[in-house]
Amino acid sequence: NDFERASFKDFENMEGYNMYARAEVFNNYLNFLDSRGHLNYRMVCTSGCGPEINVLLPGKTRPEPLVGFVSNDYLGFTQHPKVKQAAIDAVLEYGTGSGASPAIGGHFLFHQQLEGDIAGFFQRDKDSAILYTTGYTSNSATIQCLMKKEDLAIYDMGVHASVQEGGQLTNVKTFPHNDLDKLENVLKNAQQAYRNKMVVIDGVYSQDGDMAPLDKILALTKKYGAYLVVDDAHGIGVIGKTGRGVLELYGLLDEVDLITGTFSKTFASIGGYVIGRPELIRLLKFQSRQHLFSAAGTPADIAAVIQSVRLLDEEPHWMAKLWGNIRYFRQGLTSLGMNIGTTESAIIPVKIGDPAKTGEAGRLLLEQGIYTNPIIYPAVSRKDARIRMSLMATHTEEQLDKALNAFAWVDSRIGIAHQRANINEQ
Ligand code: PMP
Repeated sequence: NDFERASFKDFENMEGYNMYARAEVFNNYLNFLDSRGHLNYRMVCTSGCGPEINVLLPGKTRPEPLVGFVSNDYLGFTQHPKVKQAAIDAVLEYGTGSGASPAIGGHFLFHQQLEGDIAGFFQRDKDSAILYTTGYTSNSATIQCLMKKEDLAIYDMGVHASVQEGGQLTNVKTFPHNDLDKLENVLKNAQQAYRNKMVVIDGVYSQDGDMAPLDKILALTKKYGAYLVVDDAHGIGVIGKTGRGVLELYGLLDEVDLITGTFSKTFASIGGYVIGRPELIRLLKFQSRQHLFSAAGTPADIAAVIQSVRLLDEEPHWMAKLWGNIRYFRQGLTSLGMNIGTTESAIIPVKIGDPAKTGEAGRLLLEQGIYTNPIIYPAVSRKDARIRMSLMATHTEEQLDKALNAFAWVDSRIGIAHQRANINEQ
């Protein structure tokens, strides 16, 4: 069909084409999505991020208020008065930028404070944390800097793109998502061949919203002498009694070799961090290119994070409210017959399977005033397309009901509920 013909696949086999020809093929694919009304990405938002957001829809001249499920600002801290004030105060005191990378003049008192605070947040000493300018570079730097070309990085297939990028200078093996037997096979085969083996997993996975079986994976890494790195970008502020994520849930905060994370989700700003033993962290500070050759976070960014980290402990009701919303929305979608997979977090997928139908569902939801993210290949496998949503503590029941009604309406139009959708069950 048309969708298959104009698929992203054409773009993957372009050896021998020149740069402009490649761009043309890719543009044709985007034009095809656009002609169907399915290119609802990079839309311009004209209000701050939150559960209601003004968006300029394609072909429209005025922004419209939509109920948004596209923000990872899980606790709503980007709009919290104390967080905003902290950023304003930092600008007034320090100005707008840091002026250099941390090694050569861009390392300020507020960076030092946040390093100590985030290390303390994970119950480690103050020298156990390094900051990066994004969560993406926290991951890529960790693997790139610590694993050399004779070493082996082993990933769950569901890890974030930044982990995959980090592995480009070392040997890589992957295992199917959360498949412990396959992981054990990889570890067993690698045991003699590689001195350094690093298993990298997410705490909460960004597309399915499910969690890693952390205790079992830790046991396997110990058994086969591998290091364990956990990126819990989506677990912090959501999972665990006090929001320390999947490691807290499993009671393993001090057991893993490295924890990586981001300040762009619960912590309402931008930036990333790595937590580990001080000697490893010091090595990263003086060896990782992403830290040495890239400017440090701005005063406003960092001040907002410092305040958000405090708020998580000072105002635990936001997490409680988020979980109320998660339960309510999951229940609502399930009773409509939607397939929400194995989610255990604030990320809620509605699995549809067919990419064209998923694009159409996204378009129809927008028509009903609901902003979600249709996720298709290459972000997920070809037959596993879904509508992906993130819940926030600040969604109201009325907003969640509006979304549930919209899902029921879309289902009546094109059939997206479990029994009707073309689901890939594997
Ligand atoms: N890890 C995971 C699991 C993510 O989902 C993301 C981004 N959404 C990142 C890392 C990268 O974080 P950042 O946005 O801070 O670059």
